[in-house]
Amino acid sequence: MSRKPIIAGNWKMNKTLAEAQAFVEGVKSAIPSKELVDTVIGAPALFLAPMNYLRQGTELQLSAQNSYFENAGAFTGENSPAAIADLGIEYIIIGHSERREYFGETDEDINKKAKAIISNGLTPIICCGESLETFEAGKTSEWVEGQITAALKDLTPEQVSNLVIAYEPIWAIGTGKSATSQIADDTCGVVRSTVEKLYGKAVSEAVRIQYGGSVNPSNIAEYMSKENVDGALVGGASLEVDSFLALLDFVK
Ligand code: PGA
Repeated sequence: MSRKPIIAGNWKMNKTLAEAQAFVEGVKSAIPSKELVDTVIGAPALFLAPMNYLRQGTELQLSAQNSYFENAGAFTGENSPAAIADLGIEYIIIGHSERREYFGETDEDINKKAKAIISNGLTPIICCGESLETFEAGKTSEWVEGQITAALKDLTPEQVSNLVIAYEPIWAIGTGKSATSQIADDTCGVVRSTVEKLYGKAVSEAVRIQYGGSVNPSNIAEYMSKENVDGALVGGASLEVDSFLALLDFVK
């Protein structure tokens, strides 16, 4: 089964509004058709509305980097998934290791967020991945299986078919020390077989799984050649126009 690739930039807490706008202007006419690849920028929430305005009529899609799991209420400082959906944004990244580590996001929160995001008609990009300690102890598979099982709890097969999962080994994020394409393929394969165990073969063949962790223009084609890798979640190399567009060269 062929799955459409999905390349998503994760800007993290970078850029000013002027820089974000200049980036959209710089990439917008060079992005390949949505029929070939989903091309997404995960921008700080502050910039989503103006970026959404600028990217109208282009192939660029947008993602938030987080949201809360309630649609409204007394939750100072949080962003509503319903309000993000209302802007016309397509995706919300949840469970990034930085959110888990620095902001205490739990598997249970991630499951609640996934449900809230889907119920607002958006696609969650659900991150998972192990620490260096877990990797070195040879426990990556069971760790990732546990994270995915918890994140998907009580979702329907149809909902799981349509979402995106990103496997990001924490030791490869922002370190320049990317996982080999073999490790990426094997662990994305563990994610896929976990989905198969929970939801059956058809769902596991439909769900899209990204690799993330020091992906750049020179290693992306190698990851994309792997059976279980359907895309990439890219931090550092997504920040500049040229480097971001070069991530899409494998499509040509
Ligand atoms: P990196 O970040 O590409 O800079 O390693 C990836 C991520 O955290 O999503």
